[in-house]
Amino acid sequence: MQNPARAQPAHVFMHGTQPILIDCGEAAMGQLKRAGIEFRDVHHIFLTHHHFDHIGSLFACLGLNMMTQRRQPLTIYGPPGTRSIVEGLCAACDVPNAIGFGIPGQQLPHPRDFTQVREITPADAVTLDDLTVTCCENTHYRTEDAFGQDGHLSLSLRFTRPERSVVFTGDTGPCRALETLAQGADLIVGEMMDLDVTMKRIRAMNEGMPEDRIQMIRDHLSKHHINAADLGQLAATAGARAVVAVLFPPGIATPDTAQVYVDRVGKVFAGTFSIGQDLAVH
Ligand SMILES: [Zn+2]
Repeated sequence: MQNPARAQPAHVFMHGTQPILIDCGEAAMGQLKRAGIEFRDVHHIFLTHHHFDHIGSLFACLGLNMMTQRRQPLTIYGPPGTRSIVEGLCAACDVPNAIGFGIPGQQLPHPRDFTQVREITPADAVTLDDLTVTCCENTHYRTEDAFGQDGHLSLSLRFTRPERSVVFTGDTGPCRALETLAQGADLIVGEMMDLDVTMKRIRAMNEGMPEDRIQMIRDHLSKHHINAADLGQLAATAGARAVVAVLFPPGIATPDTAQVYVDRVGKVFAGTFSIGQDLAVH
C-alpha cells in the first residue's frame, strides 16, 4: 500500500562494509542513494516473498546496473519463483540493452551476464564469509498445517554474524516456525498491522462492499499479518533483545498514535522496541 511518508519495503543489512539488500520495494534505488549507499556496491539481494510491494524496484535495479555497465556479479536470493521473475525482468532489458547509448560499436553488459539467482527454501542456509543467512516459511500465504505442501512460499530471514543476529520477519501472520528462527536474536525487524485501523480505511475506500467480503478481508488480514501484540509476543517468546517495527500500513504509528503501539508491544515484551523511520539505522 503506498504511503507518502514511507517508501515500500527494502532494508539494508551491513555485512562489514558490504550492503546486503533485503527486499526491493518500489523506490529502493532512490532510498539507497539517500542512505549514502551506491547501488553498484550491492552484490546480494534477498527477497522474503513476491508481493509486488517487496519487489517493485528489481527492474530498476537491473536496468541501472546495466546502464552503468556493471560487470560484477549480483546474486538474487528468494523463494521459488524468483528465477522466473528475474528472467522476465532480464527479458524486459533486451530492448534498452540493444539501444544502449546509441554509440556505434558499444555494447552494454546485459543483466543476464551479471545476475545470478539462487532460490532458497527453509532447508537452505547461505554462507557469505562469516555471515550465515537462514530462513523459515511463514504464515503470510498459508497456515502452518499447509507447510511442506506444493505452493508459493513466503519467507522470514535470519542474518547471523559472530557478534550479532538480525531477523527480518517479512510479511507474516503469527507463526511458530518464525518464533524458532528468531530464538535469541539481537534484533527483530518486524511487521506490525493494526486490524481495526486498516479495516476502517478499507471500508471508507470501498463504500457498499458487501459485509461478507469485508469479513473475508478481515479474516485474511488477521491470519496473514501480525499486529503490535503479536510482534511483542514473537519477540518475548524468541527472547529477542530489541524489535523495530518497519512494515506497517498507512495511517498507523503516526507521531500522534505511536505511543499506542509502544504500549501494546510493551505489555508483552520487556526489551527495546521502536517504530522504524525510513533511512534510520539500528
Ligand atoms: Zn506481502
